Amino acid sequence: MTGVGDGTAMSSRDFVYGKFSEFYSSPSTVIPSPSLLDQREMGFLLFKERIMLRHKSFESGSDLKSFLSETVPSDVYHSCAYYENPEAEMDKKGWLGADLVFDIDADHIPTSCNKVHDEWTCSKCGLSGKGITPETCPICKGQKFDTKTWVCELCLESAKEETVKLIDMLEKDFGFFNQETPVFFSGHRGYHVHIENEAVKTLDVMARKEMVDYITGLGLNLSIRQKKSSDGKVTSRTFGMHKFGRYARLKQDMHNFIEKATKDGLVKAGIKGAPSTSILQYKQQILDRCIRKGLWDSVIGVKDETWFKIAAYLTNLQVAAIDTVVTTDIHRLIRMNGTLHGKTGLLKVEFPVKRLADFDPFKEAVAFKEGAVKVFVSDAPEFRLGGNVLGPYKNRTVELPTAAAVLLICKGRAEVAS
Ligand SMILES: [Zn+2]
Ligand SMILES: [Zn+2]
Repeated sequence: MTGVGDGTAMSSRDFVYGKFSEFYSSPSTVIPSPSLLDQREMGFLLFKERIMLRHKSFESGSDLKSFLSETVPSDVYHSCAYYENPEAEMDKKGWLGADLVFDIDADHIPTSCNKVHDEWTCSKCGLSGKGITPETCPICKGQKFDTKTWVCELCLESAKEETVKLIDMLEKDFGFFNQETPVFFSGHRGYHVHIENEAVKTLDVMARKEMVDYITGLGLNLSIRQKKSSDGKVTSRTFGMHKFGRYARLKQDMHNFIEKATKDGLVKAGIKGAPSTSILQYKQQILDRCIRKGLWDSVIGVKDETWFKIAAYLTNLQVAAIDTVVTTDIHRLIRMNGTLHGKTGLLKVEFPVKRLADFDPFKEAVAFKEGAVKVFVSDAPEFRLGGNVLGPYKNRTVELPTAAAVLLICKGRAEVAS
């Protein structure tokens, strides 16, 4: 068995710590420094103490690498901001600017599989449920939860689709992007986009908030025509929208939604009964007359109310996908490229956006490529990692490739077998 050596039982946490230590100490590990490293605040989550060490800074990548190999943190972060004094207290740092960062995470995307593999338990009252973790506990209103999630292929595909939409907007509507611009796999359940340039560097919180609102489609006016009664009072809102900018994108989303509509998909948008039947029966007419020509009430059974529901549903999907707090926080610490994620043992990795469609996180983010270890797996679905298809396992001792063993241990699904 690799990693245990003398036959004494090794705790699973020590095993993972040992692997992280080997990774950061190895001369072959190259960790690319973020630009202007010496102006950034660094933060580290410590393996053993489980505390966050913040307000550190480093003159060079080699100083940082020595620190990593000595300290062996479970997670490594740097500020999106540049400071005069990155080690000073928050209000004395001297903010010079910040990259514009977007975080797209499957934790917030309502995929069809999260009810299968994600669970939450309220830390206060013990209530548990499946699917996306609520903001507050429905029983005790507590806000702390223990969560059990999975790094799932379908979830990561959904996150990728949302990333494609975001990048298309950043490129075409904002001009911040081209196909060579790097994007990042987060090492867990999503993708990051960092925009580093002079045009965005000094944008304040309000300006970043406005960008987020545009991207998430907040504040769109979808009732440009209104029905009035004979005394001039508005009696109902009539669905309609402009043709340009963000509206054109929503229209495209609506087109795709109708084109691919299924009965279940419509239920998710709150559409059942007669409107659902009409949409499924008259797809082509709806695409042509309602969406392309803007004759929203021209198909029998599909009225304003249905269009408002579809528009709200699609807008919410966009809101959900982007963690807006990350983008508007100009002091945010973000995971450092080339470092390990403490919840998976996978790497945060950079690649040019033109490779996004082909990028395979289950191959390209694997850090531990050698060895195997015997573990007792309590519960794991079938998964693919580093070219192997493994599982499903339930209360079984198996020998797994190191990367898979680390992943399952980090996810709380396995222990090193003694
Ligand atoms: Zn509770
Ligand atoms: Zn999933």
